[in-house]
Amino acid sequence: MPAARPMPDGLPPLRDVIAAHDLAARKSLGQNFLLDLNLTRKIARAAGAGDGGTFYEVGPGPGGLTRALLSEGADKVVAVERDPRCLPALEAIAKAYPGRLEIMEADALDFDERAILPPGTHVAANLPYNVGTALLIKWLSGASWPPFWAGLTLMFQREVAERITAKPGSAHYGRLSVLAAWRTKAKILFDVNRSAFVPPPSVTSSIVRLDPLPAPVAEADIRKLETVTATAFGQRRKMLRQSLKPLGGEDLLEKAGIDPTARPEQLTVAQFAALARALGSDS
Ligand code: SAM
Repeated sequence: MPAARPMPDGLPPLRDVIAAHDLAARKSLGQNFLLDLNLTRKIARAAGAGDGGTFYEVGPGPGGLTRALLSEGADKVVAVERDPRCLPALEAIAKAYPGRLEIMEADALDFDERAILPPGTHVAANLPYNVGTALLIKWLSGASWPPFWAGLTLMFQREVAERITAKPGSAHYGRLSVLAAWRTKAKILFDVNRSAFVPPPSVTSSIVRLDPLPAPVAEADIRKLETVTATAFGQRRKMLRQSLKPLGGEDLLEKAGIDPTARPEQLTVAQFAALARALGSDS
């Protein structure tokens, strides 16, 4: 076999890193690695690495995206990885970029980002689907706004990306769309073919970028907004007067000025916020 070409960052190709550290992908950790540094650089640029600043990467794995963030210009990357097998590979990257990569072994779901990340941090991640969605909800539901992050650049299954960015009237519009549009501007930047991953996942993925709005679209208590969206979309084919019965049904809808025969996918984010406000302080 011909000798592998040296990488621009002087580090070995990711295939060699994976072989050297015995990083066979584990399904239980949702591991599908990106080995193409041209693609990881494209994601890093989409996350704004070219403008410098601090980046928070969740689940760096063998470090493909980490290397791209650093080589594209991130001043600093703080990376949180749950799998201890990946740490030696990440330490090698930290050595190649002195003082610019901080690695932590932790579960990102329990991690208190505000405690260590400066305001204006950019978040970039290629995560397992369930962890990515749970983290997105955590980052969108913070008690204070604007959040600690200046932008989220995240990989999702295409179908989840469509749900996050869906507009009213779309079959994909749901709880995630309302939550995302309430506090951010969210868009799909590009798709990533399954063949780009090792091992390939079963479906196409998409890179989603979310930029925080200076203030939410309309005033609402986040917990109440979650309650009304979960209850309404829990029975998405039913009229709201039926699905929202547990929360007050027609009385609640009248208080919020919403047609009781409407279905949840017809409501704008501002109307969901009005429902959340109408819920009152005892709900
Ligand atoms: N970013 C790498 C890439 O693009 O090749 C790895 C992507 S792989 C889909 C997801 C990574 O997230 C794995 O390295 C896995 O160990 C890590 N991970 C999974 N759950 C996590 C969690 N709760 N907290 C931190 N890392 C997690």
